[in-house]
Amino acid sequence: MSRKIDIEALCAEKGLRITEQRRVIAQVLGESEDHPDVEALHARASAVDPGISIATVYRTVRLFEEAGILERHDFGDGRARYEAAAETHHDHLIDVETGTVIEFVDDELEALQRRIAEKLGFRLVDHRMELYGVALGRKG
Ligand SMILES: [Zn+2]
Repeated sequence: MSRKIDIEALCAEKGLRITEQRRVIAQVLGESEDHPDVEALHARASAVDPGISIATVYRTVRLFEEAGILERHDFGDGRARYEAAAETHHDHLIDVETGTVIEFVDDELEALQRRIAEKLGFRLVDHRMELYGVALGRKG
């Protein structure tokens, strides 16, 4: 949940050629505090450079994802969302009514997952946890 990730520097590290348009998309991604989909990224990137097409955004996020710079999420609405893979580990709770994504870290949950893996004979190296909920007390 640390913000302002230097995706451009990560590209250089991974040996990705960085074009001007990729630089803009990398910057937008690095500054995003939510989990934007391609359309939202395109809106933000084209506000900086109107010449950036949605196809370029698609290609660029795929490239970044393949390089391990971005993580793709599917929060149940069929749209791929992206965030920098360099974010410190956290899990997500998705409000199914509004689509709002809340990030959280829970030490007990982390320990429990490690214990489950160990019980099954594994050392945990990664996990994904998505909780889907409806806000308590919201009038529906
Ligand atoms: Zn997140």
